[in-house]
Amino acid sequence: MNAALQNSVLVLNRLWQAVHVCTVERALTLLCSGHAQVVVAMNDGEYRTFSFREWCDFSGAAAGAAEQEIVRTISLRIRIPRIILLLFFDRFPNKDVKFTRHNIFERDRNTCQYCGKKFDRKDLNIDHITPRMRGGLTNWTNVVCSCIACNRRKGSRSPEEAGMRLIRKPKKPRWRPFVELQFAVATDHSWRHFLDLAYWNVELGTE
Ligand SMILES: [Zn+2]
Repeated sequence: MNAALQNSVLVLNRLWQAVHVCTVERALTLLCSGHAQVVVAMNDGEYRTFSFREWCDFSGAAAGAAEQEIVRTISLRIRIPRIILLLFFDRFPNKDVKFTRHNIFERDRNTCQYCGKKFDRKDLNIDHITPRMRGGLTNWTNVVCSCIACNRRKGSRSPEEAGMRLIRKPKKPRWRPFVELQFAVATDHSWRHFLDLAYWNVELGTE
């Protein structure tokens, strides 16, 4: 087995949002079956997409590609894709973002949702917007990060009763936060553009 087949490829969904990382092997399968195209950052800063056939041609033409950039099959010499774009339905269904303390902090970016200030996690509470004793549920839409001062001020009241306003309406995050991906950025600079977008999507684009 060619070790290069286990390298990482960034996967974009149809909206060009980074949603996943897969192996080269998986990327080539998706490419070959017509479910994905290769995305390449061209020198002019534009992105060009390649179908499987086009990619094979491009690979053949890329005589200057370093040997580690290439995988060989019995009949083909294919350049390793760095980024692929899914063309149809998402082959990687959105994994439900787990409702955990960690992910609540991630969603709220360690920011008190009442005063809008950023804190260390140890200085943040999980606040029930509608208090539990009033039947408030423990779910994505009824819990937010809150600093200790705001938490105290609110007490067991609703935000309205306490005269406090949420800085934004809490929702279930749509994408798994791309925290793990941030560490992988260094492996391929062409990912950066999409990871930056993913970052912004996590912050703003929750369901
Ligand atoms: Zn606060």
